[in-house]
Amino acid sequence: MKTSILIIYTGGTIGMVKDPEKGSLRPFDFDHILKQVPELNDFGFELTTKSFDPLIDSSNLNPEVWIKIAEMIKENYEQFDGFVVLHGTDTMSFSASALSFMLENLGKPVVFTGSQLPIGMLRTDGKENLITAVEIAADYKDGKALVPEVCVLFENKLFRGNRTTKHNAEYFNAFYSYNYPDLAKVGINIHYNETSIQKASGEMFAININLDTNIAILKMFPGINERTVDAIFNIDGLRAVVIETYGAGNAPTDAWFVSAIKKAIGRGIIVYNVTQCPSGSVDMGLYETSVELRDIGVVSGHDITTEAAITKLMFLLGQNLESDKIKFFLNKSIKGELCQ
Ligand code: ASP
Repeated sequence: MKTSILIIYTGGTIGMVKDPEKGSLRPFDFDHILKQVPELNDFGFELTTKSFDPLIDSSNLNPEVWIKIAEMIKENYEQFDGFVVLHGTDTMSFSASALSFMLENLGKPVVFTGSQLPIGMLRTDGKENLITAVEIAADYKDGKALVPEVCVLFENKLFRGNRTTKHNAEYFNAFYSYNYPDLAKVGINIHYNETSIQKASGEMFAININLDTNIAILKMFPGINERTVDAIFNIDGLRAVVIETYGAGNAPTDAWFVSAIKKAIGRGIIVYNVTQCPSGSVDMGLYETSVELRDIGVVSGHDITTEAAITKLMFLLGQNLESDKIKFFLNKSIKGELCQ
């Protein structure tokens, strides 16, 4: 039987064309993509495409889109060997992170990709990304998918999705995984880093689409003032805040700052400490400037990305768990998103 791949096109630069009147890029009909890449037929796979309607620039994305992707994968899970999700680069790391939490017991590849230049342009990176993503989604050995994970393929690397960050708005290497090894390197051959790829559980695949968006990010900067901090912690209905701290998880030791966090934790708000540094880990207690955070109950995000922290919080808050249970799961890896 032919290998079958479902390509889900959500929007993004890869399928964009220039609006003749405005001169700006806008999403276009998905048929356009396959016309541009007839080489895909050479694989001999059965390729099916499903397009979002309307197509979205990923800067307009919201969690409804994640639910739609999860449901499309669920509805088609049995019929296909692998899935390619074409997505705008701007929020691809958020989406790949969210899906990693929402898809349970994944036994097939879900490969996100997109491009920096539209597929219809001469120097496009979209063709190569799409072709390689399809090849990876179809790669099986002894009946088992080589990468049964939600991952991101860009330029010549395959990353664990919930470890990625968009780090480049200009060059073709738009994504990077600072704290976790590449899952594969793409050259003449595709070299899989088998020891870094998650193994499928073999349990029944399911999706979990309950998300809670009552969260906020508070990024530290020298000069941050009490009114700003108070305003954030007092948002109506707020359930959790990611604090983006300096270095190894450090923040000001000013009494008003620590007290604002302490009061928020006292009101049941979860505070999750994530470093502003793209690489490295939070280590509360290493410096005096993080000892108090640890002691008042701030939860360590270790080496998690902000994208994974935000989506993990939405996911855990959506599960109707006790606060202690949520904190327990925040502190450990549930889908390979952090190392302790
Ligand atoms: N704004 C576009 C998007 O994220 C950029 C891209 O696709 O690269 O949808």
